[in-house]
Amino acid sequence: MRDEFGREVRYLRLSVTDRCNCRCLYCMPADGVPMMRHDQILSFEQMRDIVAAAASLGVRKVRLTGGEPLVRRGVVDLVRMVATVPGIDEVCMTTNATLLAPVAADLRDAGLTRLNVSLDTLDPQRYARITRCGRLEDALAGLEAARRAGFAHTKINCVLVGGLNDDQLRPLAQLARDHDLTVRFIELMRMGECASWPASRFVSADEVLAAVPELEPVGGEGVSEVYRAPGWRGSVGLIRPMTHQFCGQCDRIRISADGHLRPCLHSAASVDLRGLSGQQLLDAIRRGILAKPKGHRMQGGRASDAGRNMNEIGG
Ligand code: SAM
Ligand code: SF4
Repeated sequence: MRDEFGREVRYLRLSVTDRCNCRCLYCMPADGVPMMRHDQILSFEQMRDIVAAAASLGVRKVRLTGGEPLVRRGVVDLVRMVATVPGIDEVCMTTNATLLAPVAADLRDAGLTRLNVSLDTLDPQRYARITRCGRLEDALAGLEAARRAGFAHTKINCVLVGGLNDDQLRPLAQLARDHDLTVRFIELMRMGECASWPASRFVSADEVLAAVPELEPVGGEGVSEVYRAPGWRGSVGLIRPMTHQFCGQCDRIRISADGHLRPCLHSAASVDLRGLSGQQLLDAIRRGILAKPKGHRMQGGRASDAGRNMNEIGG
């Protein structure tokens, strides 16, 4: 289905929990945020019904996210349920990978097609500082288990944070020299925890091109600009929500763990889907798609209008 501005919505990001085993500096406060009650969170059956309704309106790709999707008990079963919804071609997951190693093969068997792994540094101390409670070795073990389970073309998501990882852009990018991976550098978005951070924390993705001058542009993939360097096995992506507006290509809607459809990450607008089924559910999803704004308003360093932290909306 197309939105009011002619954009075809084919991609649904489903937050399966607002909980997380980490507390990344830019995403959550050190002692967490008030958690949704268990009875507020959608059941797997409700999630499947929402995905099926969205699929009947043209959604083809689902990404499970959070919070940390792997802290939700039974998430392998949810993958299986979503993967068998008619019309859904791809079921992906965004994860910090620290809990991935023991379940990577089960996720693959259940029908998960692709993984995005968040990894902002390759230095164990910095990793502990950024995530506050994560261990780099667990995330790397998760990545290795994913490779062994047969996941191909995994994407590494690396959020650029001035003073924390902007001196490590070359080694991070070089993961794509040595492995069949895409390393995507994402500009930190001014929202939630980091809404009032100083400008020095917000690093332009141009810094990646300065640190790795051999990168050459080869096109685009969704909201990401893709670069390659001669002889490298993988590629590098740049996602620039702050310095380049790509809202014209936006094809996604989001569902929060408590069942609210968010037409845009950076707008407070939402449509409550809880308790709806059949025609009412379809109509509500249609309303959500038609409520997609033309674009966000973060240019010039202005903070997002999201009004909630990333872990609550589903990043
Ligand atoms: N816990 C999972 C993970 O970390 O991959 C999934 C949820 S997390 C909210 C999804 C992605 O959002 C992560 O890659 C994280 O780095 C990114 N993220 C969180 N806050 C952000 C911000 N303010 N700006 C840009 N990316 C952000
Ligand atoms: Fe958790 Fe992901 Fe947020 Fe880090 S970015 S606190 S891993 S939800």
